[in-house]
Amino acid sequence: NGVRVSVLGLGAMGAALATALVEAGHTTTVWNRSAGKADALVALGATAADTVGEALTAGDVVIACLFDAASVHEVLDPVADRLAGRTLVNVTTTSPEQAVEIAAWAAGHGVVYLDGGIMAVPEMIGSPGSSIFYSGSEAAFEQYRPLLDLWGESVYFGEDAGLASLYDLALLAAMYIMFAGFAHGAAMVAGAGVTAGDFARRAGSWLTAMTGGFAGYAAVIDGGDYTVAGQQSLEFSNLGNMIDASVAQGISTEAIDMVQNLIQRQIDAGHGKEGFARIIESIKHPR
Ligand code: NDP
Repeated sequence: NGVRVSVLGLGAMGAALATALVEAGHTTTVWNRSAGKADALVALGATAADTVGEALTAGDVVIACLFDAASVHEVLDPVADRLAGRTLVNVTTTSPEQAVEIAAWAAGHGVVYLDGGIMAVPEMIGSPGSSIFYSGSEAAFEQYRPLLDLWGESVYFGEDAGLASLYDLALLAAMYIMFAGFAHGAAMVAGAGVTAGDFARRAGSWLTAMTGGFAGYAAVIDGGDYTVAGQQSLEFSNLGNMIDASVAQGISTEAIDMVQNLIQRQIDAGHGKEGFARIIESIKHPR
């Protein structure tokens, strides 16, 4: 198999990525800061490098799966000259700003850079359901796509190296707010003796059905006109009865207040007759 790959970092995730490469027949060189972690991979057919520099020289493409942005610099700064002319695929979790900074560092050293955000746990690598987000060099993404596809579905967002991380965090933000909504609903009915398990079954089918609404909201948001007919208005979306019922149950209203505040700010600005999708304007324009 033509492409020679080097993997830096053999934690749970780095080892899973390297294993998939070795099993697909790639010439794979691995390096880890502390000894011992390469043994299982060597038994599969990988070569262990004693130094980072050695590992870099052995690969056409270098995969970094370290701890954080600081550890990427700690490992690569001293060997930047040996990385020149190669492609670095950094799947270490970083912030969007850190990804942009590492991309600029790479460009400054003549390194082609692709940033990756892994949307999977190690056990999922190479299985259905695993997806990895990429941004940065499109040429690198296209060139090494067959290799990247060994890990899961590869999704490319654009040349801005921070996009994969930004997208990853945006999905996680949406997820956490949804889970907070689940917790709020479960707390509302708990006082009436409903178990969280019972509520979870109802909430699962209800929220799954409600995700069908995203496309309609997106069409209004992208169209930029919140007066389009057929939308639920902000005024109609008053959550007062849900807040009152929560107070009556003696529970916190923080989670639902958050949504009510986003609605109220648009009503106060005179947009009460416009569609609910307009709450995104409250979010885009901080108080
Ligand atoms: P582990 O804690 O299992 O491994 C961390 C790896 O980073 C080890 O190889 C460790 O080396 C190395 N490392 C840490 N600090 C340094 C340093 N200063 N210099 C050199 N090497 C260093 O983590 P994972 O493998 O699970 O995660 C790796 C990356 O993948 C992280 O950025 C994580 O956020 C991301 N990720 C992980 C997921 C998961 O479910 N595990 C999911 C999505 C992303 P040593 O063995 O010497 O300590």
